[in-house]
Amino acid sequence: MVTATVEIPTHQDVLSFVGAPRTMLIGGKWLDAASGKTFPTYNPATGEVLAHVAEGNSIDVDKAVTAARKAFESGPWHTLTASERGRLIWKLADLLESHLEEFAQLESLDNGKPIGVARAADVPLAVDHFRYMAGWATKIEGNTIPLSVPYTPGVRYHAYTLREPVGVVGQIIPWNFPLLMAAWKLGPALAAGCTIVLKPAEQTPLSALRLGELICEAGFPDGVVNIVPGYGETAGAALAAHPDVDKVAFTGSTEVGKLILRAAAGNLKKVSLELGGKSPNIVCRDADVEASIPGVSSAIFFNQGQCCCAGSRLFVEKGIFDKVVAGVVEDAKKIKVGPGMDLATQMGPLVSDEQQRRVLGYLESGFSEGAKAVVGGRKLGNKGYFVEPTVLVDTTQKMKIMQEEIFGPVVCAVPFTDLDEVLQAANDSIYGLAAAVWTRDVGKAHRIAAELRAGSVWINCYNIFDAALPFGGYKQSGWGREMGHNALELYTEVKAVTVRL
Ligand code: ADP
Repeated sequence: MVTATVEIPTHQDVLSFVGAPRTMLIGGKWLDAASGKTFPTYNPATGEVLAHVAEGNSIDVDKAVTAARKAFESGPWHTLTASERGRLIWKLADLLESHLEEFAQLESLDNGKPIGVARAADVPLAVDHFRYMAGWATKIEGNTIPLSVPYTPGVRYHAYTLREPVGVVGQIIPWNFPLLMAAWKLGPALAAGCTIVLKPAEQTPLSALRLGELICEAGFPDGVVNIVPGYGETAGAALAAHPDVDKVAFTGSTEVGKLILRAAAGNLKKVSLELGGKSPNIVCRDADVEASIPGVSSAIFFNQGQCCCAGSRLFVEKGIFDKVVAGVVEDAKKIKVGPGMDLATQMGPLVSDEQQRRVLGYLESGFSEGAKAVVGGRKLGNKGYFVEPTVLVDTTQKMKIMQEEIFGPVVCAVPFTDLDEVLQAANDSIYGLAAAVWTRDVGKAHRIAAELRAGSVWINCYNIFDAALPFGGYKQSGWGREMGHNALELYTEVKAVTVRL
């Protein structure tokens, strides 16, 4: 059942923000779409329209790229010192922090996530990310390099590298952590000195647009950050294909990641991709089982399972399989599912009716192939896009639900007998984003961490994120690493300069 609700009153600033049609940010101005069209964004807890937003298309993207190019090549951004850039990013972080409640509510209303999660995770992590990247602006350095080229007697060389901004960057982000994904993209690009055209997901454009207002308030020069909301097939595709964009950074499905790559081929723009996952979560018999159970539950149920790194394949060693599954089932039963704006809610609706249909479709496919739900397995309520927290057993490696990303609150639990077997099964995936292992044996933990083909491995924990920790995928989970100093590599070019002395 969807829990009976007592929702918190909506913040006055949120009401006025969603009360008027939202426009797009291009060259420091808030503009309607060239076509005059708008699109609705919905409250996933009710299915009702939340706000209307300007619908960008290729004409708007072109205008935004022109503004970004101008800001990159001339004007104040070009001449700001690294320290000044860092201070602007820091100021944006301060402004965002001072509007924490407003952003948490916008995020909860637009995405569906529990307000408590948006307050404790989405907004503070975005603030912290901007602060972390503000610090990097002054630390982007090259090297001096000793040359050993054969030389004419008496002639010597001095060589060094410069790290320079890659240029105009297109950034396309998903709907699962709308504000945080905007921060992951904008932070390092701004620190590096790039200019940006950001396209938020059509399901959740609001927090990025409100952030655009703070970007203007912070004092970033016009055209440094442009925000064009719109659909993926139109605005997103135009941005990925645009001949004057130097780099495209994308987070979303692996399927769309491949389209981005093809679109980028026209001018061979640089590409970074953070894509899907089917992350294995391995619980060994020697683990602290009591501690592993809530860890395993939150690995899959956090954010309604709409995390690219969700621990969606649970491998449990025989002997403790029943105990761990029973514990996760108990947790699933206790989760309070309801509208995000209810303080008691622990799990909100999925983001859209499309996403609800997709998850229910996977459940049906699993059942038809012989999987069984120990708990959950159905949609919840008759309004909004709720799905029950679900634990599936009797799954086999070949089933679609074990191979494909479900992106919902659905975990497949599988027993295993020995380490080689579980490592083979864990790595039997086209994805390689994240993985976890639960054990008290330190040697075994590190051996498993080394053998897992994944960009993040958690030992006796899950979903631990930090602005300083790189995040990204092996295999079809992506190209490149976001966060940490690694993110700066995505937004800089290296120039080798050689001087004859
Ligand atoms: P999902 O399928 O879960 O909605 P997507 O990968 O489709 O995730 O969406 C992630 C982002 O990619 C969104 O901003 C979306 O608008 C955008 N997008 C979708 N299709 C395309 C496309 N063909 N080209 C560029 N961007 C796209």
